[in-house]
Amino acid sequence: MVARTKCTRAGTEPRPLRSGPRKVLKSRVYFYFVMPELPEVETIVRGLHASLMGCTISEIEVLWARSILPPDPAAFARALTGRSIINVKRRGKWIVISLDDDTALLIHLRMTGRLVLGPGERPSDRHARVMFSLDDGRSLHFCDQRKFGRLQLMDDPTEVLGELGPEPLADDFTAQRLAKILAPRRGRIKPLLLNQRFLVGLGNIYTDEALWKARLHPLRLANTFTSAEIQRLHQAIQTTLRAAIASGGSTLSDAAYRRVDGQAGEFTDQLAVYGRAEQPCPRCGATIERIRVSQRSTHFCPHCQPSPESQT
Ligand SMILES: [Zn+2]
Repeated sequence: MVARTKCTRAGTEPRPLRSGPRKVLKSRVYFYFVMPELPEVETIVRGLHASLMGCTISEIEVLWARSILPPDPAAFARALTGRSIINVKRRGKWIVISLDDDTALLIHLRMTGRLVLGPGERPSDRHARVMFSLDDGRSLHFCDQRKFGRLQLMDDPTEVLGELGPEPLADDFTAQRLAKILAPRRGRIKPLLLNQRFLVGLGNIYTDEALWKARLHPLRLANTFTSAEIQRLHQAIQTTLRAAIASGGSTLSDAAYRRVDGQAGEFTDQLAVYGRAEQPCPRCGATIERIRVSQRSTHFCPHCQPSPESQT
């Protein structure tokens, strides 16, 4: 029950992105380093929930201090050592691990964070940043190649989670509620759907997929949708997220996302437009285009998703 902390290179800032996400070429299909979104986080949470309930944390080793917020590895390890895990759930893209002293460990994977559950030996993964030893001999490793992921121990998690928008798969997230929150918005729909204060869980992949499924152009203004279009968007968001969860999320060619058992997500083959510029639209055969919207690479079908200009 000894808390060990070992901090290496703690004074070094994470390297910023040089010019946006790194492009990974793979024949005509390209992917980027992308953040895990709702389906990936939900898959991880389900895996953790099934494996960690009732476990006690016996030892913690912090290998990269800045993965911890605030960055005090010794206090972090002291507070968590001996704590039992009583629940694991998801809120937006946050993993929320509830502990037996009414505190909560919040984990955000950001771009390349991964949680790996396995037998107790030290992993060969050189990207391990924080290692939790469990009382049953297993260990949970937080690995993070690019070091943007964060772990935060909180007395009151609502300080962080309270600012988030509604959950898109919650029972009370109806098309009427979507219409209500869209009405006062004047911006374009793609960046709005990425805004976690507006709606949680969607990132670049599933926003592009949902807009394609709803046949809505990513540059449409949020307050210009008809009620039929809002119905389509609501249904597209939910069906896209549910299908992705059912397939364990999407593991792209960067392989940053993995389930806690190390398996890849299998939704990648079902992506219709994301990462598929210059390929035929699966619905109409037109060539999928890629544009930049708010600095984010955005994929759409110019035939199925008519531009705002063509509708005026
Ligand atoms: Zn199309």
